[in-house]
Amino acid sequence: MDMNKVDIKNLSLKELGHALKDLGMPAYTARQIFTWLYKKRVTDFEQMTDIAKPFRAELAKRFCIPALKLNKKQVGRDRTEKYQFVLADGASIESVLIPMERWHTLCVSTQAGCALGCTFCLTGIKGFKRNLTVSEITGQLAAVQAENPDMPVSHIVFMGMGEPFANEHATLGAIDILTSEEGYQYSNHRITVSTAGLVPQVRRFIRESKANLAVSLNALYDDTRTALMPINATYPLAELMAALEDYHQHRRGRITFEYVMIKGINDGIAHAIQLAKLLKRFPFKVNLIPFNEHRGTDYERPDEDHIRAFQDYLQKHTIACTVRTTHGEEIEAACGQLGGKNIAQEELP
Ligand code: SF4
Repeated sequence: MDMNKVDIKNLSLKELGHALKDLGMPAYTARQIFTWLYKKRVTDFEQMTDIAKPFRAELAKRFCIPALKLNKKQVGRDRTEKYQFVLADGASIESVLIPMERWHTLCVSTQAGCALGCTFCLTGIKGFKRNLTVSEITGQLAAVQAENPDMPVSHIVFMGMGEPFANEHATLGAIDILTSEEGYQYSNHRITVSTAGLVPQVRRFIRESKANLAVSLNALYDDTRTALMPINATYPLAELMAALEDYHQHRRGRITFEYVMIKGINDGIAHAIQLAKLLKRFPFKVNLIPFNEHRGTDYERPDEDHIRAFQDYLQKHTIACTVRTTHGEEIEAACGQLGGKNIAQEELP
């Protein structure tokens, strides 16, 4: 990537319109360019044939259209695909494509690493490198789709490396391009942002975005939650729940809670009872995620009978609850296993 040029995929339609105006181009050219970039997915200004030649030359002088560099792709036994991309400055990020029968979900990263340090998460254990740009977030979709032209990504979840709301500006900018008429045209219903619970950003998200919200909950008491997720010391459960009540009042939508089940920490029936009590004030759904054991922590996956008993209790109390099937466990693509390590040096089992 030419560092002297502006990455055009970092600009919103409005920002691009302003930049073009400064170059003496008509405002409608911004829409044409968006169509070329996101619908026709061209990689060169010369391919934008409905833009006058001198303008194309001017665009090429000022802007670049970078693509993510794929370093490694691994395919699991269940067809889950893990992609490792190397960014222009050498940082690496990972994305996971989960093909299902009727839809295909792409899990994207928003940061290289993560600063929140959740103790069960490999990304958190490895620390933080930097925020991704809008272009690097949407670029994961472009790159994965280019690898899989016959497998259209139907849903996008912001659940990869990083806390999306710690990179709020780029996360919202990427959602804007993913959902805009001139961009990728995804419905907001097909996009889910998962947060560890950054309360001020959750409140802004309620006002500024129509995408779905998921909350990584994982514990029902502040002491346990703070031990698993240090961010809870800043935004304890009561503050988080108050913000989520606002979400319900504004949207009337159901909130998804992710609950990573860890043996002996949060997997007992007493926890299921407390979960039902804590969340009763708004409609919600729970994804139980049995902990995926990985190097770097001593936490263990709960026994199967604990997982079943937990799920049975919630279902008996009419709480929508699924146990998330682990995808790509053997390629470390499962939840909490994205670590940005150099998978190029590793062998698949
Ligand atoms: S679980 Fe999410 S917020 Fe917590 S450290 Fe991992 S990536 Fe960051």
